[in-house]
Amino acid sequence: MFENLTGRLGEVFDRLKRRGALTEADVTAALREVRIALLEADVALPVVKDFISAVRERAVGQEVLRGINPAQMVIKIVHDHLTDMLGGDAVEVDLNAPAPVAIMMVGLQGSGKTTTSAKLARRFRLRDKKRVLLASLDVYRPAAQQQLEVLAKQAEVGSLPIVFGEKPVAIAERAMKIAAREGYDVVILDTAGRLHIDDVLMDEVAAVKSKARPHETILVADAMTGQDAVTIAKTFQDRVGLTGIALTRVDGDARGGAALAMRSVTGKPIKLLGQGEKLDQLETFHPERIASRILGMGDVVSLVEKAAETIDREEAEKLAAKIQKGTGFDLDDMAKQLRQLRKMGGMKGMLGMLPGVAKMKAQLNDAKLDEKILVRQEAIIMSMTPKERRNPEIIKASRKKRIAAGSGSSVQDVNKLLKQHQDMAKMMKQVGKLGKKGMMRGGLQ
Ligand code: GDP
Repeated sequence: MFENLTGRLGEVFDRLKRRGALTEADVTAALREVRIALLEADVALPVVKDFISAVRERAVGQEVLRGINPAQMVIKIVHDHLTDMLGGDAVEVDLNAPAPVAIMMVGLQGSGKTTTSAKLARRFRLRDKKRVLLASLDVYRPAAQQQLEVLAKQAEVGSLPIVFGEKPVAIAERAMKIAAREGYDVVILDTAGRLHIDDVLMDEVAAVKSKARPHETILVADAMTGQDAVTIAKTFQDRVGLTGIALTRVDGDARGGAALAMRSVTGKPIKLLGQGEKLDQLETFHPERIASRILGMGDVVSLVEKAAETIDREEAEKLAAKIQKGTGFDLDDMAKQLRQLRKMGGMKGMLGMLPGVAKMKAQLNDAKLDEKILVRQEAIIMSMTPKERRNPEIIKASRKKRIAAGSGSSVQDVNKLLKQHQDMAKMMKQVGKLGKKGMMRGGLQ
């Protein structure tokens, strides 16, 4: 249902991506487009306004992560805020209460209440291993009770025997009594809906609620109805009180706005998504996943999250490739590697990327490379000229003195480092050979 919004935002971000650096004017322009996209997706204006200003607040002054362009950073901020707006963490329907736990389903007629009740019953039986009783309180719509009975059979759960002429509150009471007597864990009360919200409906639902004292009161709302769904949710929240929302027909071509506004307007989490008519087409609502789906940019988001890690890995891989090719290992490489070592938790991690180096790793375990030493060694290399780093053999006595002074260490330390570099270069060559062999073996298998 989010295709339109996704497409629209995709265009905005594509344009951003083509730029190198992002000025404040660019951010403003981008957010203007995001604003239009949200409005077109049927998100209510006040919600959009809040969204934009919150994103702007977050974006301004935000440090752009190394290796990520500013546009990607904006996408990440929009994504994170979308996730927050959708409720942050996923919230499951809660069954944590003394049995029998009553779950009351409310909503307008045709919203998918009966179907969702049966879907939920099936899920509780299969996933949570619960004994579930379904009860229809809809005494108005012809054959509504029979419909639920049929669905209960399909879901392989119990259904309350129908007593014709019984009133909704009485049905709810009977359902709870039978559930307690017969050892059911969960009772799902499927209340009657109306075509429109009216006082009679609200009074009845409220009466059932005060009698049955449900642990959860879930509004079933049709995503296809857009802003109406949000208004309906608000009314139910004000008049009856809700604990969660199930959004149905998400498989249709609704524009997604309802999902976005639902949480902020009602203050209640969307817990479930109905994805079709079949009983297994029910999903837990995961704000983060939905935000990624709306943006259509889950890849960029995880890219930003893993930015530092990715960059380090790339450098390590480059170095590994260089070593495997057997080309020279100079002091620049060593400095890079020392940095990597600090970040990646030692030599083991990096060499782990090369094939066939298990023995080497064991030797390196003894090296006891501690952080302070690594920092000092890095400082020594940084005190060298680029030429010296590429050609360590030119570093004679006077250069050593200068380097030692520049890095706050002794000539002895410089000597030690140069010796270590030689050892490493030698070892790298060996690793390179081993690596090639390892790769060939891999190739022949
Ligand atoms: P109720 O009046 O609120 O109880 O609504 P029903 O459960 O009887 O659903 C009305 C219609 O919507 C039925 O034809 C259902 O099969 C269909 N329906 C319910 N949920 C979904 C859904 O998530 N996706 C789709 N495509 N159809 C659904």
